[in-house]
Amino acid sequence: MGSAKAGGVNIKVLRNVLEANDQLAARIRERLAQHRITAINLISAPGAGKTSLLERTIAALQGRYRMGVLEGDIATTRDAERVGKLGVPVVQLLTGGACHLEAPLVERGLSELDLTALDLLFIENVGNIACPAEFDLGETAKVGILSVTEGHDKPGKYPLLFHEVRALVLNKMDLLPHTDFNREEFLRDFRKLNARAPVFEVSCRTGEGLAAWVHWLEHACEGDLDATPHSHAALAGVLQPHAHPHRREFSGVAAT
Ligand SMILES: [Zn+2]
Ligand SMILES: [Zn+2]
Repeated sequence: MGSAKAGGVNIKVLRNVLEANDQLAARIRERLAQHRITAINLISAPGAGKTSLLERTIAALQGRYRMGVLEGDIATTRDAERVGKLGVPVVQLLTGGACHLEAPLVERGLSELDLTALDLLFIENVGNIACPAEFDLGETAKVGILSVTEGHDKPGKYPLLFHEVRALVLNKMDLLPHTDFNREEFLRDFRKLNARAPVFEVSCRTGEGLAAWVHWLEHACEGDLDATPHSHAALAGVLQPHAHPHRREFSGVAAT
């Protein structure tokens, strides 16, 4: 009896928290749009290589896009120090124990950045693949990062995240032969939850596969979140930010 009542109160409180969060997220989204900023909410478990991916990605886009990072963490500034070495503005968001970022903290982080000087903002969520997916931060897209060492059963365990992401980075592919990760099973389970998000199989250690991911971000910055993996061998080094020559072309199709 008592527990049922308490449960009802808890649900109401949670609903109010989510509603307040979503209202603020909508304001953040509007503000980012005014400044033509693409914001990517990176969600992964600890150890999946989120910070390594960020380091690689920023290095690849440096000089072409004006980037910034909101670095979410429960209590330490270790990741922010790593990312800070890449020469882009980084704001540390300490959640004070909470296992996910919420919109109010993101809004405070934005006030520390010069939004007129940014094209692309990475929001590195707290290392956790359960609840961060529940909280809209006003981002343009959520991106999931999973490493093959974590196992292929994650989509079934964390369906909301895999349903919400607009792209998925599968990291540590160089270690695949040393794991029990079943790639086919993983992709099949992922597709049941998410029909369209591209999957980028990469290794942040060797650099394998990163070009296609980085290129997806370029499309995302043009408002195209549905680009599937493709390459521009013929145009390598020619692409300019905000002047992307095509939409939705596939690997092997010459971009003209
Ligand atoms: Zn949480
Ligand atoms: Zn392209």
